[in-house]
Amino acid sequence: MHEPIKLSVTSLQSALDCPLCFWIAERLGSPPSIFARITSQMDSVIKNYMKQFIGGSNLPEWFPVRGTLLDASGTLRATDPATGITLAGKLDALARTEDGKYHVVDYKTGRPPEEVPYYYQMQLDGYAYLLERNGFEPVAGGVLLYFTPQHGDLGEGLFPFKITPVRASVDSSRVLSTLARVKEILDMTAPPTRSEDCEMCMWREQVESTLSE
Ligand code: SF4
Repeated sequence: MHEPIKLSVTSLQSALDCPLCFWIAERLGSPPSIFARITSQMDSVIKNYMKQFIGGSNLPEWFPVRGTLLDASGTLRATDPATGITLAGKLDALARTEDGKYHVVDYKTGRPPEEVPYYYQMQLDGYAYLLERNGFEPVAGGVLLYFTPQHGDLGEGLFPFKITPVRASVDSSRVLSTLARVKEILDMTAPPTRSEDCEMCMWREQVESTLSE
């Protein structure tokens, strides 16, 4: 009997980006991340800061959705009957407007983009799918909240962050076709082909060819 397939929302786009890397990571585990510690520290500071707004009706002016920010600390899961894949994800927060619509809220660090990057769009769509499958409907949109370090002086060795919201639309219907592709990749008995434009693999191949000369 096959083990049930579990997949995180954050891995959905990686299956589309490079089937080979995804296939390897699912079978042998992901490579270690050198940024893990600092990223998780920032994540915890940001979540702690945003906690003050959870449950209250005093959302700040810069927050683009009028309503209530809800705690979303639990993991949401949903199993797609067609592929048997259980998708799981943990939202940073969830906003509910007075007319009962939900908005996915995701915290990011770095410079805010003009438009939602495609890899974050898939995350937002995945969260929307999980929300709908767990009774949080309708999901009307998403918000990426960017926390960007700024030049400035808060004193006592601290420095400030600027918060910029980036609004997003969501389309949960994309998730099912992505899960079908994930299943196809995972069912492959031989490694699939790699992404054609990955700089890391192109560099590796160049190094290998130089060393073998
Ligand atoms: S092409 Fe890039 S993403 Fe794919 S296996 Fe190589 S390093 Fe990984």
